[in-house]
Amino acid sequence: MDNQTVYKVKDSVDLFLSDERYIMAYYLNTRQRKSFKTNKEMILLIEQIDGSHTVQELKEYMADNHDIDSQSVDFVLLLMEKNRLITPIKVKENILSEDECNRYSRQINYFSEFLGSEEEGFYAQKKLMNTNILIFGCGAIGGDVATELVMAGVKNITLFDYDTVEYSDLARHMYYRNNYVGKSKVSALKEELQKIDCSVKVHTIDEGMKPNSDVEQYIRKADFVVNTLDEPYIGYTSSKISRCCIRYNIPHYIAGGFDAHLASTGELIIPHVTPCVECYAGYFKEKLKGWKPKEHPVQERYTEMGGLASMSLFSASFAATEIIKYIAGLVNISEEYKVRGELLFSDLSLTYLNVMKNDNCPVCGGDVL
Ligand SMILES: [Zn+2]
Repeated sequence: MDNQTVYKVKDSVDLFLSDERYIMAYYLNTRQRKSFKTNKEMILLIEQIDGSHTVQELKEYMADNHDIDSQSVDFVLLLMEKNRLITPIKVKENILSEDECNRYSRQINYFSEFLGSEEEGFYAQKKLMNTNILIFGCGAIGGDVATELVMAGVKNITLFDYDTVEYSDLARHMYYRNNYVGKSKVSALKEELQKIDCSVKVHTIDEGMKPNSDVEQYIRKADFVVNTLDEPYIGYTSSKISRCCIRYNIPHYIAGGFDAHLASTGELIIPHVTPCVECYAGYFKEKLKGWKPKEHPVQERYTEMGGLASMSLFSASFAATEIIKYIAGLVNISEEYKVRGELLFSDLSLTYLNVMKNDNCPVCGGDVL
């Protein structure tokens, strides 16, 4: 243990003394509770961990006043750090400015809780600020995702959409205002994003997705890609975008698939780690074998679907949370990680699809280069 380190009790942890024999810890972010057997000396030591004393000063204090040796102080501090009760204080100015620390303090606190130390929380925030994100589609979902990412500190964002703001969009899109009707969606959204954070760099691409669209030129410049484009339809745009992202090894999120009765929890796709869009297509092909849809008299039904702004926001918030968690390093991809689910608004039931990565997938299968 470095004797010059200064520790403090984490802001996200409440400590209580119970019966003079137990320290009860309540973790505010996870609602976890833990109890630790204690004694009078340990309580006296904890009282000194206030963010102003070095480990060396704590050791001297405990030796001089309570006859406690330095190994015992080390043991208690290491135990408390391992259990995420205390965190070393680092010079945060080297990672973030004072203004950035203040602006994002609540979420840095959240990141720190799951990552371990406050320093890791600062680095997670820095990662978000340095990530260049490309969003396909500025409809209700894409616009909400963009808004939440900029609120979280994303500073470089590219918006792709050809459409203009229509009157009915005002009731479904959280960020469109009366004066935006008739304006291109990308420029209206850019204006809103810069009202949230005037330092955000917003690059706009005012075009639609066509079979000959060269999306590669945009994708290869991004660190993370989000697809919410539902024209001509989400399956087409996702396949085209995901194939390109896999080629450039860029993680991406499919956040479309929303309509009046359900919200897809999307899927986070990490090339060669999680299933890709083609793996999902293979899964659905197998599941729907022999099923033939009846022809519907209305061809372009996406414009007929009902929905509420609150439903879009719900779906987009789910996506934004997962994207932020992934960039900040909070997503642990394991067998248990649930990549795609569907929430039914009628009864708020959430079901997950158990889709596995296909090792023979023509897009993401085979060895990682
Ligand atoms: Zn695949």
